[in-house]
Amino acid sequence: MVSGVESCRMETPLMDAILVLNAGSSSIKFALFDRADGSDAIGGGERLRGQIDGIGDAPHFQARTPEGAVVADEAVALDEAGGAGGENPHERAIATLLDFIERFDPGLVVSAVGHRVVHGGPDFARPLRLDDAAIRTLEGFVPLAPLHQPHNLAGVRAATRAFSAAEQVACFDTAFHRRQPWVADTFALPRHYYDDGVRRYGFHGLSYDYITRYLKRAHPDLAEGRVVVAHLGNGASLCAIRDGRAMGSTMGFTAVDGMPMGTRTGQLDPGVILYLMAEKGLGQAEIERLIYKESGLLGLSGISGDWRRLEEAGSGPAAEAMAYFTHRALREIGGLAATMGGIDALVFTAGIGENAPGLRRDIGQGLGWLGLEIDPEKNAAVAEIVSTAASSVAVLVVPTDEEAVIAHHTRELLGAG
Ligand code: ADP
Repeated sequence: MVSGVESCRMETPLMDAILVLNAGSSSIKFALFDRADGSDAIGGGERLRGQIDGIGDAPHFQARTPEGAVVADEAVALDEAGGAGGENPHERAIATLLDFIERFDPGLVVSAVGHRVVHGGPDFARPLRLDDAAIRTLEGFVPLAPLHQPHNLAGVRAATRAFSAAEQVACFDTAFHRRQPWVADTFALPRHYYDDGVRRYGFHGLSYDYITRYLKRAHPDLAEGRVVVAHLGNGASLCAIRDGRAMGSTMGFTAVDGMPMGTRTGQLDPGVILYLMAEKGLGQAEIERLIYKESGLLGLSGISGDWRRLEEAGSGPAAEAMAYFTHRALREIGGLAATMGGIDALVFTAGIGENAPGLRRDIGQGLGWLGLEIDPEKNAAVAEIVSTAASSVAVLVVPTDEEAVIAHHTRELLGAG
């Protein structure tokens, strides 16, 4: 399936590689890193990254080198008859990936696989080396993240078969938040629910982990201070971080709380759900579809959950949807800053945070009372620091890299090979 990739089996010495996998329901994102990386930078030693989309339907394989060269961009046959071997769509997709890596560089040996796993339950605050018992434990968290965890674990099982000699590591989206203070971790329910695992787990933790490590390296003074990171993508959340430690986030028990998102409600009075059940006859499946798939920017605009499309539409309900998003972001940033007694830095990241200067400008104006000031030229040019020299809060735009932080943890846990 891969054309134009030349084999050089005779000349290339064998080299250990870390494969990073982020398996969702219909796509698998991947990245490949040298296991023994000479640099100490997070993301060092990257060879390749890409994704397989349309799994279970019309799979499409894409891969690029770090320099941006496209080394694969084509439909792949993953059906039982004509495609790569395997029992289910995830297995067949991973088998295709294995086949590709062997062709791309026959000198690479995938000796470790780092997985993004959304839920690590109440206890896992660090990456975990996976064996059968550990995988069974993670299956126990499926009820906590039914829309994501099963697909993550399907990726783990598929990779365990395809890369049978490799060690497998799970890196959790919840882990970064596990050290947050109890007041940020609990709901005001009777105490036993907390002990039963009904907690504010928080998500996007691998992104916050990456940003925290980036700040430590690039801006150690800010890393020691009070930071709010705004991870604004299709999924959106914000996290308060003080001296590198999570202090609270907008996402709660599930990834539907807090900020409005592409299609998710964000914060919603639980009384609304009771009303919809009692008065409108909505059942669990309908409510799930409503709050995860039909709401947020899509529900408010009636046009799209995609920020770019709303900017193009510009007025009417599209503008109102963006105004609601901005309003909620201001409320959350103000609230998180208040819990830390102030804020030294605000970091924008993810698809919208990195690419929507208009939103950053509006949030900057809304936070003027804090002494925060965004420089219009730097903001438009997407400089790393977009605040003015006089601003009392540093405002940064930092592209997140969850794959890089998974590779880092895998290397750290297993050694450089
Ligand atoms: P995910 O949560 O799926 O990883 P992303 O971080 O990729 O999401 O963010 C996707 C969002 O980023 C979409 O709403 C998209 O419209 C927005 N986005 C991406 N690029 C731009 C851009 N250049 N301008 C405005 N919005 C953008």
